[in-house]
Amino acid sequence: MIVDTHVHIYSFPSFRDLSKHIRTMEDAIAFRTRYPDLYQCNNTEAPVDNTDDLVADMDRNGVDFALVQARAGYVSNDLVAAAAKRHPARMVALARVGHDQEAAGYHEDPGPTREAAPAELERCLGSLGMKGVGETFVRALTDHVNPEKIAKDLSGIMRVVEKHGVPIQFPTAWSQFPGGLFYGDPLWADEVAARFPKVPVILTKMGRSITRYFDSAMTVAMRNVNIHFDVVGTSPQHLRFAIDKLGADRILFGTDWSATWRWLSVPATLHQIRMKVLDDAKLTGAEREQILWKNAARLFKLESHLRSAAKAAA
Ligand SMILES: [Zn+2]
Repeated sequence: MIVDTHVHIYSFPSFRDLSKHIRTMEDAIAFRTRYPDLYQCNNTEAPVDNTDDLVADMDRNGVDFALVQARAGYVSNDLVAAAAKRHPARMVALARVGHDQEAAGYHEDPGPTREAAPAELERCLGSLGMKGVGETFVRALTDHVNPEKIAKDLSGIMRVVEKHGVPIQFPTAWSQFPGGLFYGDPLWADEVAARFPKVPVILTKMGRSITRYFDSAMTVAMRNVNIHFDVVGTSPQHLRFAIDKLGADRILFGTDWSATWRWLSVPATLHQIRMKVLDDAKLTGAEREQILWKNAARLFKLESHLRSAAKAAA
């Protein structure tokens, strides 16, 4: 069983075939500045549901189930919920807030977004039936740089997450989008994790193989047992170190599949690159099972979903 906890759905008509634009990870990072007109489609075109492409890629790579969230741009939580409902045996949805600013640039005043966010998450985790909160780029919700003030600004959304007993993801390191790089060093997450010790906090990408960010992520994780990592972009060395220090029950499998990342082909496909990290970290059978699906099942309460996924696959 493989559960991919990190997938962004929806695309735009001009992103239908990016095979010539994005072959390597470096191409994906440079996409925005290399093709500024094409990049603008994030903000100008109407989103299209690409979950049929996702399911085809999952089938090709033996992925049974996915936790899907909106990509950057004007992709609403309602669109994500509707797309996930088309594939009930293969995916459930995560909520996002502020991700429109992830593509278009952050508002100078984060106040209005911060004030609206708790009600939107309440709606997503309540009536839309979403299973957790996806990557939260905190610059959309705060412009503070003091960790205590950041945590204070995040307390509204964290109270909703705590009430529903679900996890929340915060990205680490760089992204392909403009601004907000400061928050990629996750040291500030210590204050958030400490104030909400019952909430599983997932630091996605665990520093993305960059030692400086990985060291911050490890420091925060060592003293807060509610901190978890996902393996997107990490190295075998960092993954092995994190397992040995934190335990394999704190780490989740994810690919970061999206309308752009899905085009990686050099040195291998996106799924092959992610899987190779697990192979090269020399996981035991038990560690592999925890990372590939058991931790996701426990944290996101997926047991009944995975039973129907297994039934549908049989
Ligand atoms: Zn992501």
